[in-house]
Formats: sequence, C-alpha cells, structure tokens
Amino acid sequence: MAALLELKGITRSFPSGDEEVAVLKDVDLCIEAGEMVAIVGQSGSGKSTLMNILGCLDKPSRGQYKVAGQDLGQMDNDALATLRREYFGFIFQRYHLLPHLDATGNVEMPAIYAGTPKAERTARAMTLLARLGLGDRSHHKPGQLSGGQQQRVSIARALMNGGEVILADEPTGALDSHSGAEVLAILKELHQQGQTIIIVTHDMEVAAIAERIIEIKDGEIIADRRNEAAPAKAAQHQAKAERRWFGLWGRFSEALKMAGLAMASHRMRTLLTMLGIIIGITAVVSVVAVGQGAKEKVIQDINAIGTNTIDIYPGSGWGDRFANSVQTLVPSDLEALQAQVFIDSATPNVSTNVKARYGNVDSSATVRGVSEQYFQVEGMTMAQGQALGRDDIRSLAQVAIIDKNTQKTLFTQGQDPIGQVIILGKVPYKVIGVAEDKDSAFRFDQNLQIYVPYTAVMSRMLSQHYFSSLTVRVADGVSSKLAEEGITKLLSQRHGSKDFFTRSSDSILQAVQKTTSTMTLLVSSIAVISLVVGGIGVMNIMLVSVTERTREIGIRMAVGARQADILQQFLIEAVLVCLAGGSIGVALSLGLGLLANASGGALPMSFSVASIVGAFVCSSLIGVVFGFLPARNAAKLDPIEALARE
Ligand code: ADP
Ligand code: MG
Repeated sequence: MAALLELKGITRSFPSGDEEVAVLKDVDLCIEAGEMVAIVGQSGSGKSTLMNILGCLDKPSRGQYKVAGQDLGQMDNDALATLRREYFGFIFQRYHLLPHLDATGNVEMPAIYAGTPKAERTARAMTLLARLGLGDRSHHKPGQLSGGQQQRVSIARALMNGGEVILADEPTGALDSHSGAEVLAILKELHQQGQTIIIVTHDMEVAAIAERIIEIKDGEIIADRRNEAAPAKAAQHQAKAERRWFGLWGRFSEALKMAGLAMASHRMRTLLTMLGIIIGITAVVSVVAVGQGAKEKVIQDINAIGTNTIDIYPGSGWGDRFANSVQTLVPSDLEALQAQVFIDSATPNVSTNVKARYGNVDSSATVRGVSEQYFQVEGMTMAQGQALGRDDIRSLAQVAIIDKNTQKTLFTQGQDPIGQVIILGKVPYKVIGVAEDKDSAFRFDQNLQIYVPYTAVMSRMLSQHYFSSLTVRVADGVSSKLAEEGITKLLSQRHGSKDFFTRSSDSILQAVQKTTSTMTLLVSSIAVISLVVGGIGVMNIMLVSVTERTREIGIRMAVGARQADILQQFLIEAVLVCLAGGSIGVALSLGLGLLANASGGALPMSFSVASIVGAFVCSSLIGVVFGFLPARNAAKLDPIEALARE
C-alpha cells in the first residue's frame, strides 16, 4: 500500500534579491497513516515551509508530492482546497481563531466549506468541544478563553471534517508548560485513536512524545529515527461525498452572516460608506419621480384641454412677421371645416378686451367670439343656463356665456345672472349661461372670460371679417396627423396657397414629453455620477477591509475555503452594503415624495415600481462591480502569506 503522504525530491526556494534561495533541498519523506511524527530543527531550518507543503497550503518549486496516491503536481487551487478540507487539520502556534465567532462557530467553519448541514455540524462541533473539555465554553469568544483553551478549540476545528492528518506547527509554543502538556496529551490520545499527527517543534521535550522524530537542518533531513517501536495503525480514509447544493446554501448563508458581522462591527464606517450610495439612489429615484410626476401632470392638463384638438393660425409659423396681414381665415373656412367627416367640431377665435359692466359694477374682461361648437371643442360644460345655439350665431345675437369668475365679479349680490343684461364696451348682451371652470394649467388668462357669438363680436365690436385662429376637435378614432393633413389640404385649396399653419395638442404633448424626458435624463445622469462616486467609496472601504482581514482570509483558506468562497464572501458584503444603502435611499426618496405631494403638489412626484426595482438592481450591480476588485484581491491571497500577516 502506498504511503499516505509521500514526498520525492521536494525543493522549495524563495526569491531573494536576484537569486533564488532554497529553503528545502531535495527532501524525500514518507509518512504512513496513523503515524505520530515530530519534525524538529532550529528556527529557520525550514520546518514550517515543509509543513505548509505537507498541508497543501504551499506548492513545492520542484519535486513530487502525493497524498494518498494522488499527485498534487497538476492540481489547481480549488483541488488543493478540497484536499485540505478532506485530509488535513491545522493547529497553529497562535491558534488562529476568528475573534468575532464563538468557540462553536470557529470549530464549525471547516464543515461549512465541506457542505455539512447546519444541524449536523453544530452537533459535531459541540461533541468535539465536550470531548476536549470545553463543553461549557462553547459560546465563548476566543478573547474570553485562555491560551490553552483556545488551542483546544483549534484542535477541535482541526478534527471537524474528520481529516486524518493533523498538522501542528509549534502547538505549545505560545502556551505555559501546564497547558502545553495538556495539549500534547490530547494529541497523543488522538494518535492512539488512529489519527495521523505531525508536530513541528524546536523543543526536543515536545518531540519526545512522538514515535518518529525527523530532524531537519538548513532544509535537509539529517536524521529520521524511531522513538519507540510502535506499529503504524492503518486508518481508512473514506472520501466524503460533499453535499454540493446543501453546501452551496450553507456557504452562502455563512457568507451572509459574516458580512452582517463585519458590517455590524464597523457601524460608523459602514454608514459612511453607504452614504454615497444613499445620496445617489435618493437622487436618481427622486429625479425620475419628479420627471414622471411633471409629465403626468402635463398630460393630464393637455387631456383636459380636449383630447385631440388642432389649432390653425395664419402665417407660416410662430414669429412670422407678416402673419397679421394674413386675413384669409374666414367664416366660409369654418363652415367647410365643420362639414368634414374627420372633424368633430370647430370654432373660430376672435377676442377683444373691453370693460364689462353690470349695474354699477365694472371690470375689464376678455370677450371671445366663438361658434356654437366652442364648448364641444374645448370640452367645457355649462354650470347653469344654456350654451350658444346655431341661431344665435346666424342672427348675430347679443347673448353671452360668462365664466364663474365673471359671475363672481359682476354679480356681487349673488343675483341669478341668467337673463340679466351686461354691457360689454358699449353693447348690451343678455347672459344665457354660466360655463364651468376648466381644470387646466393652460389658463393663460386670469381675466374675466365672456363668450359671445363670433358674428356679434366681428360685426358689432371689431368690424373685422377674418378670424385670429381656428380650433377644431378631431373626430373620435381619427389620428391627429391624418386630420392635420386633411385640414392642410382643404384650406390650401380654398386659399390657393398655404398661408396658415397648424398645431395639434398631440404635437404639444410630444414636445412636452420629449422635454421632460430630456430633463430627467440630464439630471439622472448627474445623479448617476454620484452613484459611481458612491461605488468607488465602497470599493475603497472594501479594499481596506480585505487588508484588515487578511489573516481571517488565510485561516479560512487553511481550513479549506475555495477561492470562490472568499470571493463570494466579500462580494456579498459589498452587495449588502450597497443594497442597504439603496433601501435607505429608496425610503428617503419615498419620504420626500410624501412631503412633496402633501405640500400642495407644486412638484408632484410619481414613483413607479420599475424605478424602485431599478434602484435595487442598480445598487446590487454597483456592489458587484465595485466589490469585485477587492473580493478578487482577497481570493487571490496566498494562504501562507495571509496567515503570516498580523
Ligand atoms: P522554521 O519554521 O523552521 O523556523 P521556516 O520554514 O519558517 O523555518 O523558514 C525557513 C527559511 O525560509 C527562513 O530562513 C525564512 O526566512 C525563509 N522563508 C520562509 N518563507 C519565506 C518566504 N515566503 N519568502 C522568503 N523566504 C522565506
Ligand atoms: Mg516555523
């Protein structure tokens, strides 16, 4: 049968200046299962280097190493991590326990990476601790335990995965003689139960408990002798099938727990780190909500004007200096338009400002000359009385519809305005109706509004035969684009040239939407910059955190964590910080929204599920993107160097 551990021609050299210095020189060594071996030698002779190679923490520069017949030469880091988990348990001079986990937590750690279910590993950890006389200390943190007790916890950890080889590097080096003897007694007992034990020490007294003593000097084995003739017990290694999926979840929840612990142990720092993300997310979500709110309000207002109206103006466009001289929009155009099937209703617009008087009350007012279809075009209803009729238009009737404002201003005693006669300029008009106010932000005019037949205004007040503009409402189911084309064609034909232009509420809507979208995009992009700055802050702190926790990373790797486990742990931490920041940001933004909407709605905010989900996705992404570099740095650490770091 092949030896459990078999080294052939192992050389390990380290670069020193320009040269390579060989620390181990051509070492041949076989260790059988069940042996208890002491490796002795002076400080600096290469014992720890040999130990690290034996435990698959380090790779030799040259030579062949086989564990239970498997050649390590071709193995990648993950395969080495698997071997560490399955075969080896480490005991270090300085215990190397994780300070923020209690004894049970520390003992359990190797099993997490091996994929043992929670209940099972806790039970086993408790059993091991009890066996080592620490049953009543299972929930103590390392800081609350003596050196000897800490070393016993680390022995329990080494036994956790049932690995058959225990590697102890100066296990008594930091202990008083009594605790040291206790630890040695435990190791001896484990050996008697079939465990393979390799102790590294510079102390011959410690070595004396082993049955085989290997002496090493300047990287070479100078003696290999049996202490007492004891037959090697053959321990059977059973490869443990790792429970993959269970393990995945176990490792994930462990990483989550560790991230929580790490964040909780630096609360202030975590909060400051989050601040960038909080500000960024609050800004983005709020800006999008304001943009959305403004858009909705504008659309609502435009819809209130009339879903689908088209204005027709003289001239070639806004700012045409000769528009005033175009006098071709005339009553016959109105009739022609009203006759079209694609037009629901049409009205001209002519207006003049006059003094309106009732009894001894007067006020300036805008008199609008309109057709009987005006109220249909504008979507207005009567609060009282009746609207203008076709006959009123035809007969130039001196009748008027007033708005609520006019009613309030002129009829101060609360008289019923219907049937009363008011004087507009010099002309008397009989009030026949009161129009309901339109709820719209597009009220350009706070003046009193009085609607009279356009025929009356044009002949009796303005002596003008043309309209200032026309407004039509497009028939239901007709697109305003088609209607615009129809109107253009019709009027061009009638006028002999295109001396007018059209504006549809659709085109206004589009313009408004485009403007608000552009604004939202602009402000959002500034907010996104703050998110990026926040992300860089997260990256910065994570890099510091990796440096601070290098030793922890080394310990985790020594007990069998894969590079992916370490990567995952730090990534989760970064994502968690960002998600927490994102949640606070979203909450703040919703709070702002409540305030804004409660304070009268000058700046209405409208939140969509999409923008909130987007915020969470965005903050997780920032965590992943900016956490990746630090996490990769952590995962790429060399376990030996990491362990050596203080
Ligand atoms: P021991 O454990 O026997 O005291 P080590 O195996 O730790 O000795 O170290 C043996 C020699 O190798 C020492 O001279 C040390 O300086 C050198 N050495 C160990 N690790 C490294 C390294 N990573 N880089 C360079 N030299 C190293
Ligand atoms: Mg050493």
